[in-house]
Amino acid sequence: MRVAVIGTGYVGLVAGAGFASFGNDVTCVDIDADRVARLKNGEIPIYEPGLDSLVARNSREGRLHFTTDISKAVPGVDAVFIAVGTPQSETGAADLSYVLAAARDVGKSLTDWAVVATKSTVPVGTADKVRETLSAHAEVEFSVASNPEFLKEGDAVNDFMKPDRVILGVDDDRATRVLRSLYEPFVRTGDRIMVMDPRSAELTKYAANALLASRISFMNQIAMLAEKVGADVETVRLGVGTDARIGPKFLFAGPGFGGSCFPKDIRALIHTGAEHGVEMSIVRTTDDINEAQKKVLGDRVKSHFGGDLTGKTIAVWGLAFKPKTDDIREAPALVLIDDLLAAGATVRAYDPEAMPNVAAELGDKVGNGVELCEGPYEAAQGADALVLVTEWPQFRRPDFRRLRTDMNGQALFDGRNIWNVDEVRRLEFSFYGIGRGR
Ligand code: NAD
Repeated sequence: MRVAVIGTGYVGLVAGAGFASFGNDVTCVDIDADRVARLKNGEIPIYEPGLDSLVARNSREGRLHFTTDISKAVPGVDAVFIAVGTPQSETGAADLSYVLAAARDVGKSLTDWAVVATKSTVPVGTADKVRETLSAHAEVEFSVASNPEFLKEGDAVNDFMKPDRVILGVDDDRATRVLRSLYEPFVRTGDRIMVMDPRSAELTKYAANALLASRISFMNQIAMLAEKVGADVETVRLGVGTDARIGPKFLFAGPGFGGSCFPKDIRALIHTGAEHGVEMSIVRTTDDINEAQKKVLGDRVKSHFGGDLTGKTIAVWGLAFKPKTDDIREAPALVLIDDLLAAGATVRAYDPEAMPNVAAELGDKVGNGVELCEGPYEAAQGADALVLVTEWPQFRRPDFRRLRTDMNGQALFDGRNIWNVDEVRRLEFSFYGIGRGR
């Protein structure tokens, strides 16, 4: 089949390469000319494990193309996937301007029937808005579908190639046939393609993200209680997660969730609820707990040093919002760094993949309170305290003896509960975890 994908970010690029890998002819379109030029040169503009080889192979074999010119990508395709950003707007609602601009451009370029599927995370009712926009510009018939994406950054290729399920929100048979045919190779071990109406598909995505986010906030609240009552959230987590009705995933206490999805998606869901007179109280509390949780590490560091960090150097390990990505959108580490700077500290920070994005985000702060370091031990050199924010695998078993001699102080803050408490205490570090009341 012939496919166009609009947007070459974490979702669009993975989807484009994924569809191409099953023999489809895919053209990916982006308005960012620099991004497209890099992709044409074989460069991957984001860090996502396994994506470079997938893109390289499909480009080399002539099935994956990149362009800024949508009028070259859309004519003659069977399906168009819109995978552009839906950031949070000032009201908390999802900003649909990118999706509708893409729909307008697709409409102008359609020369034959195609199904136009929205892969971006969009509020209930967006399929109708996309249909209206397309109708205003297209001179041919088309179908509209909602095809929310569930991949997670850091494991996006795997998730896309072997999805738990594929959700197709469609209301006509022709669109269903095309989308089913495109997705069947991805789910050969069982029929995990679920066909439903577009509104249910749109709501499914928000419900899934809000439920996952609520598990994290729930455990973060349990963690705060564990500290007060002398329990260890890590053993509570295992005890709870082994119940088959609950399951072990997304129960990790930590510094709060970030990323380009959960924070904006739960706020968009709260907004949709308010528009329809439904107070999404569980979701609102999830957000409130998370905002408070993002302050916990900074507060702990300040309280360890008596409130004032003037003259103190704090090392921060892990800046991306999660391991195996370079994405720093809404990352808890950025909140921590701001809190530390405001309290007078100097910050020495390191992340294996996110340094260019952090440098761009922090701007003037780099060299002015924040030093971006070449490696984890360089960051820890001479530091009064070390805070682990993102649990990259290489931070799991560091050389604590080396840290004990390289650091100026001996305070360790483990924001992800990955270090062995007994081991670090034996080396006479002052140790703080999250929810470790024992
Ligand atoms: P992103 O910001 O990484 O990429 C979006 C891309 O779209 C950018 O390259 C931008 O230049 C391009 N773009 C914007 N307007 C365009 C237009 N009119 N025509 C062509 N290109 C255009 O975004 P992302 O993280 O890939 O997310 C895309 C959508 O998928 C969002 O709605 C997001 O909520 C959703 N989603 C994201 C993830 C994730 O893990 N990142 C997972 C599931 C769903």
